[in-house]
Amino acid sequence: MKPFFIRAAAALTIACTCSAMATEKKEFNYVVDRFADIEVLRYTVPGFESLPLQQKKLVYYLTEAALYGRDILWDQNNKHNLALRSLLENIYTGYAGDRNSADFKAFETYLKQVWFGNGIHHHYSMDKFTPGFSREFITAEIAKLPANKKPADTETLLKVIFDPSYMAKKVNQAEGADLIATSASNFYEGVSQAEVEAYYAARKDTTDTTPVMHGLNTRITKDAAGNIVEQTYHVGGLYSPAIEKIVEMLGKAAENAENAKQRAVIDKLIEFYRSGDLKQFDEYSILWTGDTDSRVDFINGFIESYDDPLGMTGSWESIVNFKNLEASHRTEVISGNAQWFESNSPVDPRFRKDEVKGVTAKVITAAILAGDSYPATPIGINLPNSNWIRATHGSKSVTIENITQAYDEASHGNGFNEEFVDDAAMRDLMDKYLFITDNLHTDLHECLGHASGKLLPGVDPDALKAHGSTLEEARADLFALYYLADPKLIELGLIDNPDAYKAQYYKYLLNGLMTQLMRIEPGKDVEEAHMRNRKLISEWVLEKGAADNVVALEKKDGKTYVKVNDYPALRKLFGDLLGEIQRIKSEGDYDAGAALVEKYAVKVDPTLHREVLDRYATLSIAPYRGFVNPVYKTVTDKDGNITDVTVEYTEDYIPQMLRYSGNYSTL
Ligand code: ZN
Repeated sequence: MKPFFIRAAAALTIACTCSAMATEKKEFNYVVDRFADIEVLRYTVPGFESLPLQQKKLVYYLTEAALYGRDILWDQNNKHNLALRSLLENIYTGYAGDRNSADFKAFETYLKQVWFGNGIHHHYSMDKFTPGFSREFITAEIAKLPANKKPADTETLLKVIFDPSYMAKKVNQAEGADLIATSASNFYEGVSQAEVEAYYAARKDTTDTTPVMHGLNTRITKDAAGNIVEQTYHVGGLYSPAIEKIVEMLGKAAENAENAKQRAVIDKLIEFYRSGDLKQFDEYSILWTGDTDSRVDFINGFIESYDDPLGMTGSWESIVNFKNLEASHRTEVISGNAQWFESNSPVDPRFRKDEVKGVTAKVITAAILAGDSYPATPIGINLPNSNWIRATHGSKSVTIENITQAYDEASHGNGFNEEFVDDAAMRDLMDKYLFITDNLHTDLHECLGHASGKLLPGVDPDALKAHGSTLEEARADLFALYYLADPKLIELGLIDNPDAYKAQYYKYLLNGLMTQLMRIEPGKDVEEAHMRNRKLISEWVLEKGAADNVVALEKKDGKTYVKVNDYPALRKLFGDLLGEIQRIKSEGDYDAGAALVEKYAVKVDPTLHREVLDRYATLSIAPYRGFVNPVYKTVTDKDGNITDVTVEYTEDYIPQMLRYSGNYSTL
């Protein structure tokens, strides 16, 4: 589970504050590329150079294991993605015509979008990309390709590119339609939603207190006789060539593990990749959760299920990281007081955890982003996702501070606050406290929010179905928002100003009510779970606080501004909604959850939407951002032994994507 806070950016060259760059006295350019609605940034990996050699080697092999999973995600996202990527890249690299022509420029933009989306759909809106080049252009280029580079099925790929109704949406969550039939992601083939639901209902044993996460690593289809079959991702099964390379690199990583505990984690993951047995995945998750002493850590596997319309199968992803020792003090304080926060939460005591187990939290430095975490990436993560493992063994929670720092550096001076915040004192408070309160929000959301609360006995963890992700994110955000204003944070020394939380409250409502709409096309609904969650919370407090004028939308010179008139009352409302959403989760009250989402989280006011888009247009800020990775290289002696691993921040977006396709294609 993870929050994506993507703040607006501008193309700026900013002097880097990291030590390696500062000593060279070079300008560090965080912005790498800009196209369509995307800005690509670069992040640095401060502290990598000073890791001991063994940890550098460990990180290196884990990054290789991360990059080898790329094709899995592409194929999970849509069954045509890999063939389409090959076609586009073959045309792009072999193109002999005018690279400044309108058709070629549009073709290049389309390819950049497809790379960014890990396929034909936008990573956030889930809509299929629209090509700006002509069918004639690409047909002529396909004709010029050598025979061994021509696609096997040109007609289908042309349909994928040019027919807007074909594979239109990666994930459909609109109630009413068959969610599988109307979603283009590749987790199901030839089966209906009703068939899949019946299949899992028959497999789920509601008396099992340690259930595996059914469907996490499978694609569902039918055999020749019409029976439902699960195709499992494992060595020898679906995606085997990619998984074999991942396993090979994990094996080398295991040889460089920091300690026996960490080695056992990696070995168990290898075992799981070989068997595909979800019981082993649970064993791995328990070992991984328990490995809290190692400096280096990683995620590698089928983790988050946002891209499965039924929320079961995990999209492949990997993040390799190491602990930021100084900044981790903050999260250690929070997790050290987890029980206090749980016991004082504004939630019916029946739904609280009597004992919060093992919430561990740290601030990390990402070394590589891969699969579903690349190029767009989360800034915080809390895993594992299995409910019973979280309840029994706790969870690990991280805030990725070198990523938030890159966002922050790239956002300074982009004009956003001047346009949308009409109160100079608030702009000042945001300048001073938004970075720290953003980080604290993420810490509280991940370490405490997702880890809090409990289900009543017998409640199905999937009871909230398609609304589960939105309501879970809302629960975690509300927990964070409620406690950001608590004097406990000052008492714990986490913040020094009792008004600092107001910067976060204001920004949250501004985003939820208005500015996040910049990512939605006119006429469309809000679809993505984190966006729905922010809209749900913001619209709910706006409505419930209306009688007391707690929050208001006010017009000035034709522009709409968010006004927060009573911060303590706003905090109270956040607490009230947290109590209600925790009740919905604890009782599995699907109807109440669906009613909240449908009333507050989905529909957009077209007039306000138009205004937000117009005001954004004057700022030329990209709505979405993502990252290129650094490049790691091994240094070897004459016998081939690795004597060092270096890190470089020189690779641009297109070269990185082409290199990944060249070196890490497996499927
Ligand atoms: Zn979350």
